[in-house]
Amino acid sequence: MSNNTFDLIVIGAGPGGYVAAIKAAQLGLSVACVEKEPALGGTCLRVGCIPSKALLESSARFAATRDELKAHGVKVSGVELDLATLLRRKDQVVTTLTKGIDSLFKKNKVTRFAGLGSFTGPGKVAVKQKDVTVELTAKNVLIATGSKSAPLAGVVLDGDRVGTSTEALAYPEVPGHLVVIGAGVIGLELGSVWSRLGAKVTVLEYLDRILPGMDVELAGEARKTFEKQGIEFRLGSKVTGARAEGKGAIVDVVGSEPLRCDRVLLAVGRIPNTEGLGLETVGIAPDAKGRIEVNDHFATSAPGVYAIGDVIKGPMLAHKAEEEGIACVEHLATGYGHVDYNSIPSVVYTHPEIASVGRTEEELKAAGIAYKKGSFPFLASGRARAIGETEGRVKLLADATTDRILGVHIIGAHAGDLIAEAAVAMAFHASAEDVARASHAHPTLAEALKEAAMMATGGVAIHC
Ligand code: FAD
Ligand code: NAD
Repeated sequence: MSNNTFDLIVIGAGPGGYVAAIKAAQLGLSVACVEKEPALGGTCLRVGCIPSKALLESSARFAATRDELKAHGVKVSGVELDLATLLRRKDQVVTTLTKGIDSLFKKNKVTRFAGLGSFTGPGKVAVKQKDVTVELTAKNVLIATGSKSAPLAGVVLDGDRVGTSTEALAYPEVPGHLVVIGAGVIGLELGSVWSRLGAKVTVLEYLDRILPGMDVELAGEARKTFEKQGIEFRLGSKVTGARAEGKGAIVDVVGSEPLRCDRVLLAVGRIPNTEGLGLETVGIAPDAKGRIEVNDHFATSAPGVYAIGDVIKGPMLAHKAEEEGIACVEHLATGYGHVDYNSIPSVVYTHPEIASVGRTEEELKAAGIAYKKGSFPFLASGRARAIGETEGRVKLLADATTDRILGVHIIGAHAGDLIAEAAVAMAFHASAEDVARASHAHPTLAEALKEAAMMATGGVAIHC
């Protein structure tokens, strides 16, 4: 094969694209990956999952040292924030991981092309670099171009006072007053970071609840907890505009006085990246939400063109993009490849964390499916008492007739780790009784899942 002809070209090196490229190379395909940003890793590694989790960790340690050590008999004084070091650590974490993808590409013989990729016709991708355009050809092309922050009419982003999550990962000072537009995952995670570091945080949400899509009961509990932490929620608030003014910003809300603040974080969702991709040259038209339509094997309407991750339907999650990338190239290379969408967990990395997998009570009711419920509070867990993390609960939903687990929803410390057991159980089509009878180490938070399963399957738990 010539230098620029491959079995597969992947456009985009986020968790969907880079994982697909590596897996395809491991399966014996010759693979090129085109990425427009200097660093590999996509939204997730550069300006998403990883930097936000680094900030959540540092801010949690700062707040816990300031507010919680006393109760453990540890006296500290003069606790101070060194924001520059905190931000530098976050940048170092990102750089280490993005460079790691470069090494993985070399190890797996994935050829990287730096530049903006676009179709010029079936099987043809042009990579626009600074002074030159490189032409690549391949039998198959995988679109993994991800997503970007959704704009909101009237909100004028200036990349400083009024910005998106990208700016909120790097404010040079703790804002006196941060207004967050949208009580979704980004608004709550990054709102938590700056609230812990000392900002007054006001979250404006259009709906009458936070975290749409999540279990209603747990979302309500979460709101009360965040309010206790000092975050102010104004639900039912429709934002119609925001702009920088002087050294701060102004936000317009229907039915209220304009809100003055120091900074604004716009977090009202994300939209797929398809602009400038030359999709028309291969006959692909995105749907009304800008997503590329695919079949069960991630094939688009154009022969030899596939799409995965945030650019197609489904939750915008890094691990969902990864699963799709692997299933897509496995199907290309072997004829088999499948994603079990029922067992994809989602986690909000606030404190406490909120995690879920499978269907919510609201979804089961809407679908007319009879279910049994076990709900075990961490207040009744020995380990939760010992570590001082008694907030929250595990809620397990099982089919009323077959006992098969249909959904698990957890709010509490380490919920993001605990949900993995529930996801594996669901992937293996476990019943509530299966989990209830499995031995769980004592004392662990995971015992709360076992107890919730006992309640769902037999009506009672041991410890509450
Ligand atoms: P992306 O990661 O967006 O990658 C697409 C890549 O394609 C990018 O690198 C882009 O530069 C490149 N690209 C686009 N167009 C072109 C082109 N024409 N030519 C060349 N390259 C191109 N998800 C989680 O699961 N857990 C989390 O904790 C989490 N936290 C998040 C926090 C924040 C602040 C944000 C914004 C998102 C978070 N997400 C999280 C969502 C997660 O980042 C995305 O779901 C995930 O990155 C999607 O992966 P992807 O590969 O589809 O796309
Ligand atoms: P989101 O969809 O989670 O939340 C957006 C919120 O904005 C909603 O509650 C919506 O009702 C509200 N809203 C919309 N228009 C509004 C208006 N005019 N005024 C006030 N409120 C308005 O979106 P997000 O928080 O921006 O996150 C985007 C995506 O990134 C999510 O789909 C999520 O999957 C992904 N993400 C995941 C994680 C994680 O897995 N931990 C973390 C961050 C982001």
